[in-house]
Amino acid sequence: MIEPDGRLAQLERAARALEIDAASRAAALERVAAHAEAYLARLERGAVLGAAGADDGWRGGLEFDEQPSPIDDCLELLGRHVEPSGLHIGSGRFFAYIPSGGLYYSALGDFLAAVNNRYTGVGSAAPGAARLEGRLIEWLAGVFGYPEGADGDLTSGGSVSNLSAAVVAREAAGISSREVERTVVYLTAQSHHTFVKALRIAGLSECVVRRVPMDSGYRMQAEALEHSIRADRAAGLNPWLVLATAGTTDTGAVDPLPAIADIAAAERVWMHVDAAYGGAFMLCPEGRERLAGIERSDSLIFNPHKGLFLPGGSSVVLVRDRDHLRQAFRLRGAYMQDDKEQERSACDRSPELTRPFRGLRLWLPLKLFGLAPFRAALAEKLELAHHFHARLSREPGFEVGAPPDLSVVTFRYRPERGDADEFNRRLNEAIRADGQILLSSTTLDGRFVLRLAVLGYNTHFEEVELALEVIRELAARLADR
Ligand SMILES: *Cc1c(COP(=O)(O)O)cnc(C)c1O
Repeated sequence: MIEPDGRLAQLERAARALEIDAASRAAALERVAAHAEAYLARLERGAVLGAAGADDGWRGGLEFDEQPSPIDDCLELLGRHVEPSGLHIGSGRFFAYIPSGGLYYSALGDFLAAVNNRYTGVGSAAPGAARLEGRLIEWLAGVFGYPEGADGDLTSGGSVSNLSAAVVAREAAGISSREVERTVVYLTAQSHHTFVKALRIAGLSECVVRRVPMDSGYRMQAEALEHSIRADRAAGLNPWLVLATAGTTDTGAVDPLPAIADIAAAERVWMHVDAAYGGAFMLCPEGRERLAGIERSDSLIFNPHKGLFLPGGSSVVLVRDRDHLRQAFRLRGAYMQDDKEQERSACDRSPELTRPFRGLRLWLPLKLFGLAPFRAALAEKLELAHHFHARLSREPGFEVGAPPDLSVVTFRYRPERGDADEFNRRLNEAIRADGQILLSSTTLDGRFVLRLAVLGYNTHFEEVELALEVIRELAARLADR
């Protein structure tokens, strides 16, 4: 065998540093696992909100050196400068925005996916992975009651899922750029902004956006939708898509899906359901009842990184008719001709080509835990939100709305004197400063309200009781001043 010499030999010696041996891998993994354990221990006890600290550039820790740094130094930099600050959304005492879990087995799925590094854009490149993901999509489509012939894509988040759905619906309706100004979208003031952003990215920002009126529970008024569609059609416009939400981010409200489905079918309008937050509740009977009608939509999105407690990076878009999905996204380069297309290819259903083996972070926890604990946890979250709602309704001074559709409760304190908005803003700040729990706020009908969202896999009765106690005590203290 001939050996490289001179420059090539030198380069090879230096480059081979990237190929670590089994002992080095085991040692690094052991250090990383220990570090992760320390974070999880702090997460259980520590404050839900960490201070940002000073941006001191980590005294050089951020810079790269030509020489290797010891792993313990790197982990110590992360532990000191990266991990403590900001929201600890994996805490069981996190009730702000929409909680997003962080099931440990999902992290292990990511680890395996990255180590195996299979090419999951094209099915023939990793047939096993393609089948696993295809089966996951089928299972999810079944959970939502979609018929055979439905298809979908595992995406990185709800924003991308909404974008895919907007593009699929645009292509299915064959909307050309000349027709955009006549094209009408129906949604409500509570629809998620990422769908409006999706319209912009999809070249549809000039379409007509109708904000359909809502009932007192922030749900779309179906009659008003029907009225609006008919008036638009009579005026020569092209009613194209209605966006229904199954669990709004602000209040967890579920739009009247059966009535919207009736109207969409009669008026031949595409029905898209944003179930990014609420979709997971399909796994328990109580939730299925509340989301009835979702199975009649043309497309929907759902975020496992919310309701299935996965760490950030997992959403799914489902489309009732697989042809529409492929019509929107199938386009191939000449160099891909070796693929005989006997396997399901994600690239034909997605804006992406190369992508991570995203299915594994969802598949592994579902297998290792089984479905039963997920179903129980989701029913539990619905009950906990009702418990919180009922308890706070009986507390003097608090103003609580109707019982929650899902697991978000909005409320505010009504002080005897002074401005209520200002009081609740201060209450929110006091809760953040206290750090035991975290809520977030929103504006409803021009009023500042607090919201408690229950969706942590590690959020149980004890954490909700703690939230009640903190809220009650801090409100009393502020009211006494
Ligand atoms: C979270 C959410 C989104 C956006 O999802 P990302 O994963 O954050 O991009 C869209 N719609 C609703 C209703 C949501 O709750």
